[in-house]
Amino acid sequence: MKKLQIIVPVFNEQEVVDIFYEKMKQILSTCGVQWTILFVDDGSSDGTVSHIEFLRHKDSRVGFISLSRNFGKEYALTAGLDHADADAVVVIDVDLQDPPELIPQMLQEWQKGYDVIYATRRKREGETYLKKATASWFYTVINKMSKISIPKDTGDYRLMDIKAVRAINKLRESNRFMKGIFAWVGYKQKAIYFDRKERFAGETKFNMRKLFSFAMDGITSFSYVPLKFATWIGTAVALFSFLYGIKVILKALIFGGDPQGYPTMMVVILFLGGIQLMALGIIGEYLGRLFEENKQRPLYLIDKYHPPKAADKED
Ligand code: UDP
Ligand code: MG
Repeated sequence: MKKLQIIVPVFNEQEVVDIFYEKMKQILSTCGVQWTILFVDDGSSDGTVSHIEFLRHKDSRVGFISLSRNFGKEYALTAGLDHADADAVVVIDVDLQDPPELIPQMLQEWQKGYDVIYATRRKREGETYLKKATASWFYTVINKMSKISIPKDTGDYRLMDIKAVRAINKLRESNRFMKGIFAWVGYKQKAIYFDRKERFAGETKFNMRKLFSFAMDGITSFSYVPLKFATWIGTAVALFSFLYGIKVILKALIFGGDPQGYPTMMVVILFLGGIQLMALGIIGEYLGRLFEENKQRPLYLIDKYHPPKAADKED
């Protein structure tokens, strides 16, 4: 029998882990695979870990990794994928926004020979208009700016063959924009569609500020276009200034000194100052990330690791 491992990052999710497990067990038991669940606790400070420990006590197919602190979902996911032990892996959120009901369908596509089967949302319930609009704008921008194409409205929820997982594990950049990384590795990919529900319980862990920095990470780690922007605008402004400079000099030579022009000067100084600061800022964004990468710190630190044991039945 093929082995399937479910990898679930969790951060302060004590309200949902038990429900998630029950639901998962119910669906996986119909799939005809040998399954295990690997929770990655991302430094939770509530009762999440004890809930998981209790589950593991009941069912040896449950295992967990506990990180030393909260590293963020991408890092928790990375920890899970690094420890993947199966023929295929499903990455899923614990809050049941990603319907586990899709797993049988994903397995079917996998058996047909696809290596990565990702779930694309048809509609997003329970999200603000602003979040939907910014998300859609983000996908448009990043796909225009980078060479890889990131599927729209697709989260991390997906089934991956172990060879795709191994490929992903080779990418050790500390700026972990998972959507980009998943797309970058390639392999035979296939989308399946679903309607995303509201969170089952608990609160979303992502606010506007986090989402913005997420978008910046995505763009800067997969595209140099913003850096080129600075070059283009700089070149255009320099060319224009050169021509305008000639005009000013000729005018002064022919018609004599011209003390007027204070507004023009202010506009030019402010405009150029603004552009320069913006270009510096863009360089700074890249430089900062280069600095982060250059430190080559470990991506996460593990406090405890209790791997699941593949068993056919509960013990
Ligand atoms: N998560 C995590 N670390 C974090 C934030 C979130 O491991 O720092 C997990 C969380 O427990 C959940 C998943 O990542 O399983 C998605 O989080 P959430 O539902 O808050 O995100 P959203 O659905 O709003 O994008
Ligand atoms: Mg969620």
